[in-house]
Amino acid sequence: MAESTHQFHAETCKLLHILTHSLYTNHEIFLRELLSNASDALEKVRFLQSTGGEVRDADLPLEISITTDKDAHVLTIADTGIGMSEQEMIDNLGTIAHSGSEQFLRAREAEKPKAEPEAKTGEIVNGEEGESKPEEEPIVEHDDSVPSDASQIIGRFGIGFYSVFMVAERVEVTSVPAQGDATPHVWTSDGTGSYTLRSLEGAEAEGLKRGTRIKIFLRDDAHEYQEKYRLEGVIRKHSNFLPFAIQLDGSRVNTTAALWREPKFSITKEQYNDFYKYLTYDQTAPLDVIHFSVDAPVQFNCLLYIPGTAVDIFDERKDEWGPDLYVRRVLIDHQNKDLLPHWFAFMKGVVDTEDLPLNISRETLQENVVMRKISQTIVRQLLTHFERMAKNDPEKYESVWKLHGKYIKFGFDSFQFRDRLLPLLRYYTTAAEDKYSSLDDYVSRMKADQKEIWYVAASSMEAAKVNPHLGQFKRKGVEVLFLTDPVDEFSLESLMEYQKHPFKSIEQADAKALEAYPDIEDAEPRPEPLKEEDKPGIDALLAAIKKILGDQVKDVRLSEKPIDAPACLVSPDGVSSSMEKLMRAMQKTEGIPKKILEINPDHALVRSLMQMCQADAEDETLKDMVSSLFDSTLLLDGYMNDPYAMAERSMRLLRQAAGWYTGLRKQQ
Ligand code: ADP
Ligand code: MG
Repeated sequence: MAESTHQFHAETCKLLHILTHSLYTNHEIFLRELLSNASDALEKVRFLQSTGGEVRDADLPLEISITTDKDAHVLTIADTGIGMSEQEMIDNLGTIAHSGSEQFLRAREAEKPKAEPEAKTGEIVNGEEGESKPEEEPIVEHDDSVPSDASQIIGRFGIGFYSVFMVAERVEVTSVPAQGDATPHVWTSDGTGSYTLRSLEGAEAEGLKRGTRIKIFLRDDAHEYQEKYRLEGVIRKHSNFLPFAIQLDGSRVNTTAALWREPKFSITKEQYNDFYKYLTYDQTAPLDVIHFSVDAPVQFNCLLYIPGTAVDIFDERKDEWGPDLYVRRVLIDHQNKDLLPHWFAFMKGVVDTEDLPLNISRETLQENVVMRKISQTIVRQLLTHFERMAKNDPEKYESVWKLHGKYIKFGFDSFQFRDRLLPLLRYYTTAAEDKYSSLDDYVSRMKADQKEIWYVAASSMEAAKVNPHLGQFKRKGVEVLFLTDPVDEFSLESLMEYQKHPFKSIEQADAKALEAYPDIEDAEPRPEPLKEEDKPGIDALLAAIKKILGDQVKDVRLSEKPIDAPACLVSPDGVSSSMEKLMRAMQKTEGIPKKILEINPDHALVRSLMQMCQADAEDETLKDMVSSLFDSTLLLDGYMNDPYAMAERSMRLLRQAAGWYTGLRKQQ
């Protein structure tokens, strides 16, 4: 029996040292790495067989078997894949093939000289010092956060196999190559300085079948990996969709197919829906499926769903979004946030690519060119999908908008896609209060010479409908968009215009804006305009109101624009009331803003107040009425003054009114 001892390449040695002695947080990924290697090995056999190649033990099923031995604390992972010859074991398991690891180690040593006192790194640091050009090395570029976490180290290099030493005190790899008749070999190492190779002959080799068997003698602190439930959990999490059966102590763990890799025509609606449930635990069927694959410039498969229920990722579930990112059927990032912009955050699903290494860290993902290309392609596909739906199946699009429009409209901050976003926006308008309209719909209904696209922003439809400026627009038959989501006005202000029509709040319409249009047929009759002789009376009323309200208002004046209400509030700097609220919320300003109270001299209530004021400007009832009018106007503007004072005043006025009313009745 030939046995030989080999030294690991110095670099490998060092890496192993770091792997086994640093503080690890994510041991479990060793299993993902070994299972992926097994799957790759099986894939190679499948390829050989499909191209007519000869392989050893041709009838052996292509699968992975995991067995546990709790007494001996041994975990064994065996595959019937391509196997390795002696030389392949030396080449593949004895060195780190991936470049860049040396720079990493050097950076790490420079960064944390005390973190690894035992590591003898002198020879690596020396020799190349001064010659290295860090800015040309992408890995060194990011070394300001050199991690001590093993998952991140693994993330940087193709060192999948070595991750086994995070949990193993010793590893024994027995392999029978699928091709040729080379003798089986056993590779053994404790992950420190060296490994041994031994060929198996005679009785020892007997009964050994094609493939690789990795026997892991678990470290004391890794005994959890001899537990079936633990292994099952890790497999389901990372390796559930490998294309080969994974048997764990005799029963199959992975039973769900990687649907995204199947051709579209072969998948039934049921299968799509089942997979959606499996992914999201959402019992409501999705509204739609978007499934496609792309080969150039990058290869990837994408399966995304539009959920049939509203997704709530505002507030506490902020991070609960993003598709799962797979690399060749292996989950590498759950809820990845680089593939979709936040305005598509409601989409659920899976993206799988061949073009990324399995061992890529999260930070590296964020700056990855492949990722960026994939993301761009997906966004374009999604936009096309939504555009088509809006055109061909507007009802379906309306239900998508109802559930998820609150995300889509956030795309206003995407400079790149804003032009495609605008036609996708939907609003209720004065023309159709319970049916969504697009901006195209609005534009098609505009008055012949209308320039602006008018909107009213409020916290709800109810609030929007009582906006005092709205009456005039209705009277003239000029359509107004209802914006009831806090982001709406903000987004339209950023988008600025649609087809050269600027968005504008009805509160900012100037007095003459609508004058040119005739009243609609069934418009309510207008009140008599103020007579010249009443002007001093109105001026006196304004002065009285100013005195009564004191510093609760900035000013009291006549409204320049025709309004329906007796009064309205405007901000001194001309911003609309909802925008002002948004700004105050962002600045965390509390209390009631001081605004200008505009009085409508044509309103019957104002005319009566004027007469009361003429009789006695100090009348207590006049004071109560003015305060009540102000409170109601504030309420309509979304602010609540002192509710106790308000209720008390209202009682007093009611009592008086009831007294007068019964007095009047008696007189009759
Ligand atoms: P990578 O998978 O990125 O190449 P690994 O460290 O995971 O890096 O594996 C190194 C190499 O060892 C693989 O490329 C493969 O050639 C070989 N190898 C590992 N596991 C197996 C296996 N189960 N069967 C056959 N070859 C394997
Ligand atoms: Mg690997």
